[in-house]
Amino acid sequence: MKLQKYILPILVVLYVSSCKTHPLESYDLVIQNGQIIDLTTGKLTSQDLYIKEGKIVKIESPENDEPFEAKKTIDASNNYILPGFWDNHTHFRGGDSLIIENKNLLPLFLAHGITTVRDAGGDLTPSVMQWQKAIDAGELDGPTIYTSGPKIDGPNGTWAGSLEVVTDNDINRALDSLEVLKTDFVKIYDSRISGEAYINTLKETDKRGLITSGHMPFTVTLKETVDAGIDAVEHLYYIMKGCSAVENEVTQMLKNKEIGFWQAMPLLQQGYQSSTAQETFALLKDKNVYVVPTLHIGKTLSYLDEVDHENDPYLRYMGKGILKTYEGRIQSALRASEKARKDRKELDQFFGTLTKSLNDAGVKLLAGSDSGAYNSYTYPGISLHKELEAMVLTGMTPLEALRTSAYNGAHFLKKDTTHGTIALGKQADLVLLGANPLENINNTQKINSVIHNAKVYTKEQLASMLEALTN
Ligand SMILES: [Zn+2]
Repeated sequence: MKLQKYILPILVVLYVSSCKTHPLESYDLVIQNGQIIDLTTGKLTSQDLYIKEGKIVKIESPENDEPFEAKKTIDASNNYILPGFWDNHTHFRGGDSLIIENKNLLPLFLAHGITTVRDAGGDLTPSVMQWQKAIDAGELDGPTIYTSGPKIDGPNGTWAGSLEVVTDNDINRALDSLEVLKTDFVKIYDSRISGEAYINTLKETDKRGLITSGHMPFTVTLKETVDAGIDAVEHLYYIMKGCSAVENEVTQMLKNKEIGFWQAMPLLQQGYQSSTAQETFALLKDKNVYVVPTLHIGKTLSYLDEVDHENDPYLRYMGKGILKTYEGRIQSALRASEKARKDRKELDQFFGTLTKSLNDAGVKLLAGSDSGAYNSYTYPGISLHKELEAMVLTGMTPLEALRTSAYNGAHFLKKDTTHGTIALGKQADLVLLGANPLENINNTQKINSVIHNAKVYTKEQLASMLEALTN
């Protein structure tokens, strides 16, 4: 009896002190029973994800029944989880009067599971950088933005706000200004830049260790461009040029101003030579140059003369000012000659085949939509899913297509230690899908929830974010 009297209080003390030394581990969010898609292998594993301050801090089998505390848990049974999508080519632009309309595009990306965009240049850099900061601080709903800031081009370039370069001095000044702005990469455009200034810009960015992406003036060859150090080639025109047996002859005709960009296209396409292409692919692979095919916008613009977009459901999310910028490309498509229209459609077909060949040769691709003002009917958000679909239509597997979004995007911008896969310590930018995208790429659109920046967006919240944007 005496013994019991003493033992009970001792047990209580022991129990309390063990609670003190081993409190329940607490998390902001735990996602249970989801099928995690490994983008490197394509394997599916049922796992629980434990998230704290926006990062994945623990990954466990659902069989692990260690107790925990969580501010929020999601039962993700029957959900397929992969890194939030990256749209690796978008634009915020159109001048000050379109700032609000551009800002309104941000929730459109999130609602489509896109947690990161790579802004490939425009004239709204101060606003874009403001949004970038506000989003990172959790004050604004939108994807993480990586931006090139203003593009580099020659004098009187097509796009407003471009930095004009001719001399080495100009090049240094332009790159200095981008380094002051701390942009995430350098984008070079080809409307007016000379071949010489273009190559010199690439050499200087390479020397400074900056990441570059660009178009390419047709007065230089693809090999010269790759040798000068470009990191990513936007669009396939330039890749096709490098795969043509007549590249040198066509380049000379352009230098002599005998033909222009669009006239060169059928010549280059007819000159496509498999052996030349294989050499070019090997070079791109060897130098780790990424290629951004932008297939969906290619198709959209190639068929502007045939397809009636008047009833596109996505029109209602676009501001009136942005819709007005669509006019330019529509009018020029309608003005084009019969031959030009036909050439463009053939080119579009050809680019599908070229994409598949690049992928087969091991060249890394980036899924980018090129959505933004002026790019008619290429709607932010959905167009990235259309791009993935277009890739699969070329014969790529859904896994290969999926890899070109978050996985390759993060590697290209050297953010792969924090992004691009679902792994311990990485950012919990996630999308939960109601069906398996490895079986059907259209399933990327069956979005149940999006997790970005420590916030969970449910299907209902995403729908109401879209509803708020309707005209
Ligand atoms: Zn673009």
